[in-house]
Amino acid sequence: MQSIVVFGATGSIGDSTLDIIACHPERYQVYALSAFSRMEKLVALTQKFQPKVVIVPDEARREQFLTLNKEGFQPAEIRLGQEGLCETARDSQADTIVCAIVGAAGLPSAYAAAKAGKRILLANKEVLVTAGSLFMQAVGQYGATLLPLDSEHNAIFQCLPKHNPKQHLQKVIITASGGPFREYPLEQLVEVTPEQACKHPNWNMGRKISVDSATMVNKGLEVIEAKWLFDLEPAQIDVVIHPQSTIHSMVQFVDGSLLAQLGNHDMRIPISYALGYPERITHNAAHFDLAQLTCLDFSAPDFKRYPCLRLAFDALKEGIGACTILNASNEIAVAQFLTKRIKFTQIAQTIAQMLNSIVAPELCSIDDVLAFDAEVRERTLSLLEWF
Ligand code: NAD
Ligand code: MG
Repeated sequence: MQSIVVFGATGSIGDSTLDIIACHPERYQVYALSAFSRMEKLVALTQKFQPKVVIVPDEARREQFLTLNKEGFQPAEIRLGQEGLCETARDSQADTIVCAIVGAAGLPSAYAAAKAGKRILLANKEVLVTAGSLFMQAVGQYGATLLPLDSEHNAIFQCLPKHNPKQHLQKVIITASGGPFREYPLEQLVEVTPEQACKHPNWNMGRKISVDSATMVNKGLEVIEAKWLFDLEPAQIDVVIHPQSTIHSMVQFVDGSLLAQLGNHDMRIPISYALGYPERITHNAAHFDLAQLTCLDFSAPDFKRYPCLRLAFDALKEGIGACTILNASNEIAVAQFLTKRIKFTQIAQTIAQMLNSIVAPELCSIDDVLAFDAEVRERTLSLLEWF
């Protein structure tokens, strides 16, 4: 029996993860669930999965949770905030930590899980974008097991040989759907609304990653994520637009052979692979029907349409400080766009301005990263006040 913690249990990845866990009560037991808002949903999940621990951000949410959760199952403990998340990541009763918080807010708890040598299922890509080298160092040093949930990285992980994965590797090819604006008139992008941006053609995801997919900064974050997960040079990472999202990514070897992982675009497929690894387990997602496949299209991404992708490649070459600037300024800009304070096209402009105006210090510890991340957020907010 594996004892599982789901950080970000009320989100889209949390939903998919818990849906698989519910199929296998003989294998998995939920030890802890965290949520930042949506206490009604956390109460419903608590009743269904009966975790020993729940984690909420603060005292006010705790009161709200207790008021809503008057009847039925009561968790033994309610923990609070980042400290509660980190304590749970280190908890000796937890085997597997599913990191599905959105944004750099998930960094302290994911890092605590790495230092505690846990089995980590990572969806929260911002952890690797802001602190890739430090996080991977902790994973190695403390003997943690890191399994990627992001569908592209999960596909690459499935295609790479398990022993000496880099020996004959030439490059990885990350596929991108191109998002909702792949064919949208360029000059009209300035007017697109949050509702349009969140309407992804293939995937149903949280609002931040949906906007990230529309700007394709998401693909840029995934390039950086791939660098750290698989220890690659930037030149070994390609991005190709593949609107059908049937191939989730590919690996090319020195002999020119390409291996691809295909399937329906349903996050339960990569999540089940990581949950069951090294075994494969069943779930409720539909299987792919090859007879329905009419074509697989590919094209190179256009940096005029997707300037954020170029910014991410540039940041990766600059180093971890620039990646933190990219991530933090993007998080602020996306939040401002979602509340209609800035235009869609201002997301890329904001990131570019922050990358150009801030000189990153050397970041030697997670505390350094968190302090710098906070500084970039503040400076991005004050820049946007001028817009
Ligand atoms: P979501 O918005 O649906 O859910 C986010 C979860 O994080 C919620 O449970 C929320 O309560 C919690 N949360 C939000 N802010 C928090 C904070 N400050 N502190 C603690 N908890 C907080 O997001 P999602 O789509 O499930 O994405 C989660 C992560 O997984 C992101 O990093 C995203 O990039 C990555 N990811 C998502 C998908 C997908 O299909 N949704 C695919 C690949 C990777
Ligand atoms: Mg992805």
